[in-house]
Order: sequence, then structure tokens, then C-alpha cells
Amino acid sequence: MKILNGLDEIAAFLGVPVPAELRAVERVYPVRANTYYLARIDRADPWHDPIGRQCLPHPDELRDYDASDDPLAEEEQTVAPHLIRRYYDRAVMVATNRCPMLCRFCFRKRQWRAGVPEHDLTDDELAAICAYYRNHPEVRELLFSGGEPLMLSNARIRAILTRLTAVPSLEIIRIGSRAPVTWPERIDAELADMLGACRGVWFATHFNHPRELTPEAEAACTRLVRAGVPVVNQTVLLRGVNDDPEVLEALFRGLIRMRVKPLYLFHVDPVKGVRHFATGVARGREVLRYCRPRLSALAVPTFAIDLPEGGGKVPIQENYCENGRYETIFRSLVEYPEALD
Ligand SMILES: *Cc1c(COP(=O)(O)O)cnc(C)c1O
Repeated sequence: MKILNGLDEIAAFLGVPVPAELRAVERVYPVRANTYYLARIDRADPWHDPIGRQCLPHPDELRDYDASDDPLAEEEQTVAPHLIRRYYDRAVMVATNRCPMLCRFCFRKRQWRAGVPEHDLTDDELAAICAYYRNHPEVRELLFSGGEPLMLSNARIRAILTRLTAVPSLEIIRIGSRAPVTWPERIDAELADMLGACRGVWFATHFNHPRELTPEAEAACTRLVRAGVPVVNQTVLLRGVNDDPEVLEALFRGLIRMRVKPLYLFHVDPVKGVRHFATGVARGREVLRYCRPRLSALAVPTFAIDLPEGGGKVPIQENYCENGRYETIFRSLVEYPEALD
């Protein structure tokens, strides 16, 4: 696995010319991917391939210049260095802004656009985060996020986990990483054992397409599961990538076969540079209406949207029923009696 930087290196690997209009995109939002992930792209048409669309730039990235680069108000909700708190019992720690692959639909694009320096969490910042948790014992969970948090070495991750788990009220640490998808060899036995031995560690990964479910990716997830780490998945509904009920059915089925629980299907956030991936909320509902009767409950995620201005995540249901005055109407199915007074 080798990291390739810039359109020239990547196009040379794929054996295709660089479209001239992408030069301007690359000057604003850099391009990076690795040979493992790039090898999954159909070289006949990389620019429209569902794997290619996730890591190759698109001219529309420069189209929506009025959009916010932080619609979720993460900067405003930062309560300690690199710690974002929006909810009562959990907060997000951005441990690094580095990534082995720059996902074109990233909602933290502002953290890696051209000119933003690379940053890893320092010991002082970690101490400030631990102090925040000690002062706020109602916050019981930490999302260990990035960037790609597994860009940090095993030794550094171990040191960070040691400091965090010394806070008694911090019960759950959720690692948020795309490494099983984009960089499966990073989930080595040492890392899996370390996470498995650490109290309260969960792993949240991010598969978007069934073609990402390779033998290597499955082996990475299996190493985590065998080590005792529960693994969940968050998918983003992306136009031109996975906005197709049959594609998502195959993805969700594949995930539960690997003992990975599909947790969320997110509508894409209205972030600058990402808007062209938006499908509309109705599309997500269609996907759910298709999947719900066909798939095991284990396989069906919650469709959700993260509200702008830090409003938080809200689930979106398929609306199977309407509450009448005397009964609940299940659309084209049956009537079900309302509760007695
Ligand atoms: C998504 C998110 C969480 C986690 O929310 P869950 O619904 O538990 O997955 C926590 N904090 C912030 C700021 C988030 O954006």
C-alpha cells in the first residue's frame, strides 16, 4: 500500500489523462488516495465509478461557494482544544486532521483544504480534554475522530487511551475510522488486541459501497470483532455512489455477514465543496422503504440528517402510519387499535 499525492500521480496509476478543469479543484482541495483503494476503481471510466467518485475530484467541488464550510457549527461547539460537544453525554475529539485518503464528500473539508497545516493532538491538548471530562462527569463517551485517527501510531494511540481511561466517568470510547475501508492492513493484530483490551472501546467505520467489502476489509473487521471490539458502520447517501436501493441492500447484507452492524445512513451535510453529492431526503426514505421489508432488522440502519447550526442528528422515518383521532392508519396495510383512554 502506497499513498499517492496529487492528480498526476493518481492518474498515472490509473492510466488515464488528467482533465484540465480539475487542476483548479486540486489547488483548493488537495487530492490523495492510496494504491489499495485506487486498485478497486474500474479504469474504463474512473471519474464515474462509485469508488472513483469517493476519492477523485470533481469540478462541482468549486460550484457552491456560498455554502458554509462548517454548517454543523462544530467550531462554535468546541469546548476544549479539538473537542466538539453537541450532546449531553458525548463529545468528539479530533485527534488529527491527517488522512491517508481525502474523501471528496468529507464534511470536515475545511480542516484539510489547501493551506491548512497538519496537526496531531499534543499532550497539553490531551490534558485539557481529560480535564474537561473530569469537570463534566455527565459526558460519558468520547468519539475518537479525525481526520483518520489511525494515522497516529499504535504507541501514540495506546498513550492517549491510557490517559482517557484514567478518567473514571469516561465509560465509552468510540473510534471513528475509515481504515477498514481504505487501509485494512492498518488494523493489525497489535492494534486490534490493544483496542479489545481497553475498557469501553467501540469501533465505528464507514463503508459506502458493496465493492469496498473486499477480503482484506473483511479480515480487518474480523480482527476487531475477534479481539472483542464491537464494530458499527455509518454510510453516507451519496449521489452517483450509492443512491440506489439495490446497491445499499447489497452493502447492508455484506456488512452483517461480517458482523458489522449498520448503525446510520446519513443524508450528506450541506458543506461547501460537497453539495453535488446531495440526493435529497426523499431518496433516503425510498431506500428505507425498499430495504425494511426485505432485510433483517440487523441490517437496516437509522436514516438520519445532521441539522444545520449544531441542531444535532434527527432520525427520518418512512412514515408508515398516521395518527387519526380514533386509530392509527398504516398506509395500505392494516388498521391497528389506539391505546385505551
Ligand atoms: C454525530 C455526533 C456524535 C455522536 O452521535 P450519535 O448519534 O451517538 O452517533 C456526537 N457528537 C457530535 C458533535 C456528533 O456530530
